Amino acid sequence: MNKPCHLLWLAGKEQPGHGEMIPVENPATGEIFAHCQAASSGDVETAVAQAWAAFESGYWSRAPRHQRADVLDRCAALLGGALPKLIDLEVEQTGRPVREMKAQVPSLVRWFRYYASVLRVEERPLLPTTGQLHNFVSREPLGVVALITPFNHPLLIAVKKLAPALAAGNSVILKPSELTPLSSLLLARVLHEAGVPEGVVNVLPGYGHVTGAALVAHPLIRKVDVTGGTAAGRAIGAVVGKNLARYTAELGGKAPLIVFEKADVDLAVNGIAFGSFVASGQTCIASTRIIVENKILPRLLERLTVKTESIARRMGSPTNSASMMGPLISQKQLNNVEALVDDAVQRDAVVVTGGRRMTGKSQLDGTDFSKGYFYEPTILESSSGNSILRTRIWREEAFGPVIVVIGFDTEEQAIRLANDTEFGLGAGIWTQDLAQAFRVSEQIQAGITWVNTHHRNDPSSPWGGATPASGVGSENGIDAYHAYTKVKSTIINYASTEESLAADDWFGEGADTVRYG
Ligand code: NAD
Repeated sequence: MNKPCHLLWLAGKEQPGHGEMIPVENPATGEIFAHCQAASSGDVETAVAQAWAAFESGYWSRAPRHQRADVLDRCAALLGGALPKLIDLEVEQTGRPVREMKAQVPSLVRWFRYYASVLRVEERPLLPTTGQLHNFVSREPLGVVALITPFNHPLLIAVKKLAPALAAGNSVILKPSELTPLSSLLLARVLHEAGVPEGVVNVLPGYGHVTGAALVAHPLIRKVDVTGGTAAGRAIGAVVGKNLARYTAELGGKAPLIVFEKADVDLAVNGIAFGSFVASGQTCIASTRIIVENKILPRLLERLTVKTESIARRMGSPTNSASMMGPLISQKQLNNVEALVDDAVQRDAVVVTGGRRMTGKSQLDGTDFSKGYFYEPTILESSSGNSILRTRIWREEAFGPVIVVIGFDTEEQAIRLANDTEFGLGAGIWTQDLAQAFRVSEQIQAGITWVNTHHRNDPSSPWGGATPASGVGSENGIDAYHAYTKVKSTIINYASTEESLAADDWFGEGADTVRYG
């Protein structure tokens, strides 16, 4: 059977790309189920020119805000209609279980609705500038902006960036991950059908070092908004800096999760399992360093092990709605996880459960794990003392279903362990003691701290790194909308002609009382 071949989305229609063809693999089966054309540097040039032409036409950039808000609401409505296809594509290209995608993808309509609302309620500040002056501030779109997205939540992250960028009136070029380009192409079609004019949303699949590099280096790109690994974020930031374009980067993490004696252990175990193993641990905020008060450590570890093993037993095909966890995205990612676990074992870490690639048949549905990149949900702990702190996996993002568990005796130790990282994205605290929750959350180095919950994400709630390794700027909320605009200050002199003649003639004869600035 011929495999489908997907094209670029450019100026409101599918168009051929001239870059290297991308094979799209299903990571659960190893099958190349589609191909996608990639954008060459010439295609990037064309896309930027067409996106600027769309911007300058004013159809979107200068459309009345209520018109843009109505279109964003229609995007939400049409996205609702496209869910079955979008969900199937996400499952096939990411390998994430359909259960996860059915929960995540429908929630994306909230971003379009939220930014439509922001447009409808936004007020223009009137400033207390001295003099007979009416000084107001308005916000204008930046121009053509580039959005670079990763493989793990292709649609979620695209939508988190697209909704505020479009609300502000920009033209957008989205470069999805080369591993998962397909759902973004379908999303662009949906936005077009909802009324986003031609050339305002463009999707250029391609490899980072070719398509991505050409796009972020383009001198006419006014802002780059990337979500990806810290290495990519640094490389892109250096290029963007040369053009003095604006930059937002959502990068890596190594999230701590502290469980205090005063926590409900069953709730904490459920929270750890979710925070650690959803998306097979391939999330930037995955709780990977589990820091537990020694008094409850044996009890918690026993229950967590039972839960983790039950997840492993219920793994199967991602298309099976009973399957709990999918594969890793690629052979490369599997190699990385294996290397980090091997390193930990060599440095005396103990594997409590898991620790291996899965190769047999699924107990759930007979899926042949050896064809995909399945890795067992895994718990590691120190063999003695704090030996786990010497491992690479304590410091480096594994992006897989592997957690390390370590004990502590005092609150100060817990905070020190949590902050023992260059990252500062997500963090979790489990305690029923509210005073403790406040006290500790204030001292944790993280852009987002959850107490007695995990992974909560709302369009209104800022999401960003607190340290450079985890990124600059943030997604969500009014700030993300503002970051897609430039401010314009307009100062109107409303003094009468007589008043202006008296006060505003700097070079007048005997002009002692005229103003300067
Ligand atoms: P990645 O860094 O490999 O790629 C991300 C994107 O950047 C891809 O589209 C890639 O093609 C592009 N890219 C890479 N190098 C580039 C370059 N030099 N120029 C232009 N584009 C380039 O990341 P990934 O493996 O797809 O995703 C996993 C990473 O993303 C993890 O580190 C994870 O923590 C991070 N992430 C962060 C967040 C967050 O909100 N902070 C969310 C999801 C994922």
